Amino acid sequence: MQVVFRDRRKTGHLDLEAIEMAVRSAMHQAGAAALSQLLQFPAPADEQRRLPCSCGQQAHYRELRSKAVLTAVGPAKVSRPYYLCSHCHAGQFPADIELDIEDVESSPGVRRMQAMVGQEVPFDHGRQQMKLLAGLEVTTKAVERTAETIGEDIAAREQEEIQRAVQLDLPIIVGEPIPILYVQMDGTGVPVVKKETLGRQGKVAGQPAHTREVKLGCVFTQTTWDKEGYAIRDLGSTTYVGAIETAEEFGKRLYLEAWKRGWNRAAKKVVIGDGAEWIWNLADQHFLGAIQIVDLYHARQHLWSLARKLHPNQDAEQRRWTMVHQDMLDEGKIDELVQSLRSIDTANPELAEKIRAEAAYFENNARRMRYPDFRLQHLFVGSGVIEAGCKTVIGSRLKQSGMFWTVRGANAILALRCCQLNGRFEDYWEARRAA
Ligand SMILES: [Zn+2]
Repeated sequence: MQVVFRDRRKTGHLDLEAIEMAVRSAMHQAGAAALSQLLQFPAPADEQRRLPCSCGQQAHYRELRSKAVLTAVGPAKVSRPYYLCSHCHAGQFPADIELDIEDVESSPGVRRMQAMVGQEVPFDHGRQQMKLLAGLEVTTKAVERTAETIGEDIAAREQEEIQRAVQLDLPIIVGEPIPILYVQMDGTGVPVVKKETLGRQGKVAGQPAHTREVKLGCVFTQTTWDKEGYAIRDLGSTTYVGAIETAEEFGKRLYLEAWKRGWNRAAKKVVIGDGAEWIWNLADQHFLGAIQIVDLYHARQHLWSLARKLHPNQDAEQRRWTMVHQDMLDEGKIDELVQSLRSIDTANPELAEKIRAEAAYFENNARRMRYPDFRLQHLFVGSGVIEAGCKTVIGSRLKQSGMFWTVRGANAILALRCCQLNGRFEDYWEARRAA
């Protein structure tokens, strides 16, 4: 500070940023000194020198021990009574439990910051944000460890809730009726470390896999539509769930989310997905009574990809063929479309097989492609919300270059990220404090 003011006298120039940072640092140091004073616990009175130990015996007070804790105002020191059980040799610090600093190096306030930056940006970027925004020096590893620990705790609590849901033990959630409630799901690959793909087949036959699929689901509501009749999503109504897990596990997770969002009081329920089989299996299993819709744009892609095979290197012909068939699709004339596909004559066995598969795709999904009917009801017919979610929830955080995740780490960050994006982190943190 003196240096700054001496410079001012010399040059007549005041560097506000230098001053504010110096003042913040000085305030932090003073604050940390005060905190350290507050965190000097006295030795227990004679009658309080015994505690029950988890082994069933008693732990006895030994001494005051101190440890460093990083707080919101910088490094502080806590000194607190240490108890040891002579029977099982387990030690304990009751004060650490009270302060919520058991087995960790930073205070709850700092850990919350680390969790916030860790779910938003790469861990080292988070470390830089902690330094600039909070004036706190932490390691990249500390950001990672804290964010993952908190994410794992969130995921564990969710698992408990999912188990209760499976046992049909969920409270009925009362609230306003919901006109239309949507459930969308999709899968997207996340790059993982080698051990997580051992023995797994990659997308290219014979090549090992480098990614694992995250299943992402979202729930949102719709009340109105625009002048042209197109659906409008209720602002801020989207919540997400996601994990690397089996379709069966994911189905329960998404069902719980839909339940929380008012599945039981929605007048109209809609499930939208691409053609992936697991999606419709889950829809049939968990979301009975929902209108099922195949994403229109995904269905159109099927036509384009077939057009490229039918008319290789003939752009105009590809376009003409696709337009004719796309009209059938958009108009919901799926029978006509399937017939047209099956009437294509080819001597090429590979192409014949592709045509057969595409015809089956449209035939099997016909009831999910009644687009004019869906439009008449002002429903969404695309899975844009979940596709955007794949980018914002997963892509922007878990698919950056140079990232390789363990399944455990990815699932922890996903749980934390969804919790934050769903606006539930505050509630979680409060519930955790109360526990
Ligand atoms: Zn013991």
